[in-house]
Amino acid sequence: MTQLTIALSKGRILEESLPLLGRLGLEPAGDIDRLLRVPSKDRNVSLLIIRPADVPTYVEYGAADLGIVGKDVLMEHGGSALYEPMDLGIARCRLSVAAKKEGPRPDGVRRLRVATKYPEITRRHFAEKGEQVEIIKLYGSMELAPLVGLADLIVDLVATGGTLKANGLVEIETITQVTSRLVVNKAAMKMKNAAIQNLLAQFAEVVGGKP
Ligand code: ATP
Ligand code: MG
Repeated sequence: MTQLTIALSKGRILEESLPLLGRLGLEPAGDIDRLLRVPSKDRNVSLLIIRPADVPTYVEYGAADLGIVGKDVLMEHGGSALYEPMDLGIARCRLSVAAKKEGPRPDGVRRLRVATKYPEITRRHFAEKGEQVEIIKLYGSMELAPLVGLADLIVDLVATGGTLKANGLVEIETITQVTSRLVVNKAAMKMKNAAIQNLLAQFAEVVGGKP
């Protein structure tokens, strides 16, 4: 039988992926809090538990045949090296621009500074609007940056808006809606076509999406 490896995004996507995997008989057969590679209940499918931002890389290079990853991470990575056959509809949120309640307060002298974990998406977004901004790459807690004068704006994920509100920030623009996607390595799609099509059909059934 064809062996398949699926790269899973650790964290909240993993939590929302587990019920889907369970319905496909692919639940992890091992300690997902400690193991980086675990068998699934299906002997032909193994799972990698990795940082969300690394999933596109593992799949692109064929270290995993498939992956589950947020649209935000895919857009930042630049997705053309991967097939993206299915929206799983899980880990739903949006990528937005936010500022302090009082506004970004541009002084007219310097460019607006935008703090984000997503420099590529942010660069494209402001370039499309013809706005010159300075992008400051951060690895987490973007909400802090405007409060301490590190940045005028942030580009970050928003689900309820609760974290923004708690930090005195307001959402001023939505860049894109975000859900998790199934991605597939292009060579694997050819070499393991039957096994992958079969798995895609099963995913489609449980998410009610297109096959
Ligand atoms: P790392 O451990 O590498 O820092 P992370 O902090 O990006 O990872 P999470 O916060 O679990 O990990 O986010 C991973 C993915 O989950 C995001 O890329 C996004 O697609 C989705 N996500 C993030 N925040 C939310 C949210 N509030 N609601 C729903 N989905 C979210
Ligand atoms: Mg994190």
